[in-house]
Amino acid sequence: MKDRIAQLAISRKQLLQQLPGLASVLPGSLLSRMVRCNKPGCRFCQKGKGQGHGPIWILSVSLGSRQVRQIPVPSEMKKEVEESLRAFAQMQKVLRQIAQVNLELFKERKRQRLRGRTGMRTVRPSSANPARL
Ligand SMILES: [Zn+2]
Repeated sequence: MKDRIAQLAISRKQLLQQLPGLASVLPGSLLSRMVRCNKPGCRFCQKGKGQGHGPIWILSVSLGSRQVRQIPVPSEMKKEVEESLRAFAQMQKVLRQIAQVNLELFKERKRQRLRGRTGMRTVRPSSANPARL
C-alpha cells in the first residue's frame, strides 16, 4: 500500500532526527575501580579495613580479538566521556532502527512493483534454499 510506504518514510524521518551529533562519539564503556597507594599507615588502604582510594574512572575499549584497552579518565573529563559514550550508543540504536525501516520500505516497494506488473508470476524460492527476505 502507498500508505504503508508513507508511514515508513515518516518513521524514518523521525529516526533521522533522533541521531545524535557524531562529532564527539566514543566507543567502549566506563568502569570504576578503587586503588591502593601502598603508603605505610594510609587509613584508606589498611588491610581488611580500608577500601582504597577512589573510585577512579576507566574507559574500557574493546580492540577486537579479546583485546581490551583501559584508559584512565580524569574526573573532570568523566561527564564529557559519559556523554560521548551515550551518543555512540544512541547512534548505534537509531542506526539499527533506520536500517530496519529501510528493510521494510524495500520489501514494500518490491511488493508494489510486482503488483504493478500484470502477467508476472512470483517464483517461489525452493525449500532447500529459502529466501529470508
Ligand atoms: Zn592509600
